[in-house]
Order: sequence, then structure tokens, then C-alpha cells
Amino acid sequence: MNSESFLSSSRFDLLKSLILIVDDDRLVRMQLRVWLEADGYRVVEASDSASCLAAYEQYHPDLVLLDLVLPDRNGLDCCAQIYGMSGGSYTPIVVLTECEDEQSIERAFALGVADYVTKPIPWLIFRHRLRRFLEESQKNRRLETENQQLTRLATLDGLTRIPNRRRFDEHLDAMWRQMVREEDWIAIAIGDVDFFKAYNDTYGHLAGDRCLQQIAETLRQCCYRPLDLVARYGGEEFSIVLPQTNLAGALSLAERLRVAIDTLKIPHSGSEVDGIVTMSFGVAAARPDVNMWADLLLEATDAALYKAKSLGRHQAYGVKLQGTPQGS
Ligand code: GH3
Ligand code: MG
Ligand code: MG
Repeated sequence: MNSESFLSSSRFDLLKSLILIVDDDRLVRMQLRVWLEADGYRVVEASDSASCLAAYEQYHPDLVLLDLVLPDRNGLDCCAQIYGMSGGSYTPIVVLTECEDEQSIERAFALGVADYVTKPIPWLIFRHRLRRFLEESQKNRRLETENQQLTRLATLDGLTRIPNRRRFDEHLDAMWRQMVREEDWIAIAIGDVDFFKAYNDTYGHLAGDRCLQQIAETLRQCCYRPLDLVARYGGEEFSIVLPQTNLAGALSLAERLRVAIDTLKIPHSGSEVDGIVTMSFGVAAARPDVNMWADLLLEATDAALYKAKSLGRHQAYGVKLQGTPQGS
């Protein structure tokens, strides 16, 4: 069977897969290279552990054929190091060796090698197993990428493309715990568009959607600290987690956000505030300890937003969570 038909009979695109051969015996490397290239693979070689690790880092091979007895180090130590490298856990490593001692076999499989083959290599059978290892690792890589995309989609809001409520809850939970450990402040701001029902009634629901997209983008751009997270909390409400931020800091950010939305000057004839789209913000801050729950901070933020609305909208109102020590 020629190389084209051998590899293209696979359901996967294995042509040009790169295989790293690690063996101190030049003749073994030559023989493997001849077989592998005849089947259509690309090949790189290493003769010891140091050059194996360097080649792995440089070429990111799809599979490694690894001799156990290398001049500078035990092949299994090298194997463990590859599994610890980026992408290493997806790379099948096949041990090719003359050692058949129980300890090496047990350790190799405990480390997670794909196979353990004793020389002389039964090539006619082994080439099929090799192809299967490559197919499986390609499938696993694809699944991992798809999973990452799904997770990203599941935590993004469809309309505004910023994180959704679920992502907000996760981030708040993680940051709350971290601030408990660091004994530092954490704040939440919730912004609500003023008279948004009237906006929809006046300009239509599609214009309302576009307005929310513009607001989301503006809020996102104004929060640039790496741990800050702006999310769509629901409807025309946006929530922001602000770790390492006390009440004064959170209020000044909310004020900046309020002004940034004003600056968009989106016409809103149905609004009772200046004829443009405006927002109100509720802010609450706490220095949490193990006896406090993030839900309490959320409730306080909600209450602060209610207060901002009742005081006339288009403003930020802040509270410090009860039980939080005075001073900041
Ligand atoms: P307030 O100043 O008290 O916040 O008044 P409001 O009109 O903004 O508040 P209300 O809760 O009465 O109305 C919220 C409106 O937001 C009603 C709803 O149709 C609209 N809304 C919620 N989600 C969306 C959305 O995804 N797209 C659009 N276009 N409108 C939305
Ligand atoms: Mg609302
Ligand atoms: Mg509103």
C-alpha cells in the first residue's frame, strides 16, 4: 500500500503528521524514518533526552517514538517532562525499547504512554496502531477546542457579546473568595438604563437592541482593570464586579460610566432626563470575611440602585455593606 492510500484511508487528515523519533541508535532511527516516510509522515530525530525536549518544543510533533535508554537520562523522565509541557498531554508517546523489566513497563503506563513496544518492531502491525493513536489524539484535540468554544458561548450574552449573568455569578464567586483570602475590598455596580421601556415604545425594539449593544460596548471599554468584569445582568441592566475596590473607588468608576453613557448622546425623546439615554447606578462595597456571602453584596447593590432611581435617576448611589469594618 503506498503512502497516499495508507493515510488517506483514515477518517482523519493525517497526511503531514509529524513524528519525533528519539533513539541513540542511528540505525534504528534510519529504519524508522524509512518506514514512516514511506507511509507519508514527516519525521524529526533526536538522539538524547536534551535534544528530544528541544525538538518537542520547537516542532510540537503529533506523536513521539521514545527509546527508554538514552545516553543522558532515562527516557521515562523525558516522557514525564513532555506530558508537563504545553499540549503535551495530547501527544501520544510510544515507548520502543529492548527493556522488558516490569518496573519500566509499570511506570511507563502509569505515566500515560500510548503503547510499549519491544524491539524488533513488528512494523506491519505497528503502522496500523500508530495511525490509530494519531487519529485518537486528533479527535481529542478537536473535542477540546469545541468544548472551549461551547464554554465561551455559554457564558456570553447573545445580543451584546459581553459576558452573561452566569459568567458574572462565577466571576463574583471566584473574586469574593479571593478577596476573603487577601482581606481586600470588593465592590459591585449595577447600572440600569433610565426609561428604557419608553425608548422601545418610541423607537422600536430593534433600535432598543442597538442601544443596548452600544451601552455594553461603552461600559466594557471603561472598565480596563484585568479583574474587573462587565456583564449583562438581564434586560437593560448591566453588572460589574470590581475586586480590590473600595466604595469610593467603585463610586468614582460608576460616575465615569454614567458620564460615558451621557457622552454617547443617544436621543431619547421619551426620557424625563435631558432627552438622551441615561443610566442610574447602584454600588455596594464590602471587605468580606468567611462569614459573609456574596449574595448580601448583590442585595445591597440592588437596594442602592433602587435608591438612585427614587432620588431622580441619572446618578450613582453607593452603600457600604453592613458588618464591613469602617475606614478603607
Ligand atoms: P426605569 O427608569 O425605572 O429603569 O424605567 P424602565 O422603563 O427602564 O424600566 P422597566 O423595567 O419598566 O422597563 C425595562 C424595559 O427594558 C422593558 C423591556 O422591554 C426592555 N428590555 C429588556 N430587555 C431588552 C432587550 O433585550 N431589548 C430591548 N429592545 N429592550 C429590552
Ligand atoms: Mg430594569
Ligand atoms: Mg430601566
